[in-house]
Parts: sequence; C-alpha cells; structure tokens
Amino acid sequence: MKDWSNIKTVFVDLDDTIWWFTENSKVALRHVYDRFGLAKYSPEYNLFRDIYAAKNHELWDLYHYGKIEKDFLVTERFRYTLEQIGVNNCDLRKFAEEIDDEYLFYLSSLGLLLPGAKELLEYLVTKYDVNILSNGFQEVQLRKLRSSGIEHYIHHLVLSDDCGITKPLPGIFEYALKRTGATAETTVMIGDNYDADVQGAKNAGWHTILFNLKNFDRNNVPDADVVVDKLEEIKSIL
Ligand SMILES: [Mg+2]
Repeated sequence: MKDWSNIKTVFVDLDDTIWWFTENSKVALRHVYDRFGLAKYSPEYNLFRDIYAAKNHELWDLYHYGKIEKDFLVTERFRYTLEQIGVNNCDLRKFAEEIDDEYLFYLSSLGLLLPGAKELLEYLVTKYDVNILSNGFQEVQLRKLRSSGIEHYIHHLVLSDDCGITKPLPGIFEYALKRTGATAETTVMIGDNYDADVQGAKNAGWHTILFNLKNFDRNNVPDADVVVDKLEEIKSIL
C-alpha cells in the first residue's frame, strides 16, 4: 500500500477532471452550429459534430507533443470542418477564426463540473496546497474557473500557455514545481489523461492518481499509483 502521508501539494488537471469539458463542449458546439447557420451546409448536426470531434482530437494529440501551435489548432479544427461540410463561398480560415472565438467564449462561460468535483476541492484545500495544471489556454481556463465558481479553491493556475511547454513533456512539470515552490516527492497529480497527466507526472517523479472517466483498462496504466472511477474516492486516499 502506498504511503500518501508526505503529500503537501496537489495539482489537478482542469478539463474532464474538474470542469466537465465533454458535456460543456457539446453545448458550445451546438451553440455555434445554430448561431452561424451551419445547418444550411450540414442539415444533420451529428455529421458536423463528428467531423469536428475527430479533427479536434487529432489536432490536440499533435499539440500535446508540441508538433503544432495553438493558433493553428484553433483555426484548423473549424476550417477543416467547414471544408468537409461543403462551405465554399467565403474565406474559410477567417470564418473558422470567427467561429472558434465564439466557441471558446461561450464554452468558457459554462460552469458544469464533474460530479463530486466541488466537494473534492473543498476537502483538499483543508489539507493541501491545491493548484491546477492544464494544457488549456490562459484566458479560457481562467474564465472556466470563474464561471464554475471554483476560483477561490485554486492557489496557482499553471498552464502550458505560461511556459510554452505542454503536458506530458517534463518541462511543464518542472515549471509547475518552481511556480509553487513544491517538490516532486511531496506532490501528486490528479488527471483524466493517462499520457499527459499520469505518465508525464510519473516521469517527473510525482505521485499520480488517474481519474478514469474514459475507462482505460486498469491493467494497462502502470504509471498510475491509484485509479479511481469517481472523484469522491480520492477523499479516502488523500
Ligand atoms: Mg483532462
């Protein structure tokens, strides 16, 4: 049994660990589809959604590993989708930028959290220094903390945007320790992404908790010290 008694600092991932990205993003995507009249090109909403989702996923994988820039990611995911649904009467790049701005603004105004997330933060702050470590964008992530009412629980919001390095690369974990004055041996990372959160943190010498929202095979996540299916389980560990 692992000893957690020396833990002083907790870093939590934001998207799909605390703030429910999967659910909030469904609402925001539907919002831009309606707002920009995209039914004209893709009467079937699900088709638009699936093209976007697959492209977005592919681009985030590249972004995680530093292979593309943020500006390319945010424009290309909608530019590609527009092209696929047959929009050809305008500057696709410009239109995509406009849609993405609205998407991110609307998305970050939504405040749905994962079940148990607020209660977990409430509990953790009584015992630890609690921080966020996220690959999301600065202005967007800060708005999410505010719209979901959890900003006051968070000591430091540490972002890849601040240091130019994304999880799972070691540099962002070193940067996070420096920013907060923490040490690897007494720090734990909680996150839903096995590569970015768990493997990245483990490589940096941190303790790790995998929040298994995406149903990874428990036998195939060796770098997770603990795997939990519900956030409330973390209260009996830390
Ligand atoms: Mg996440």
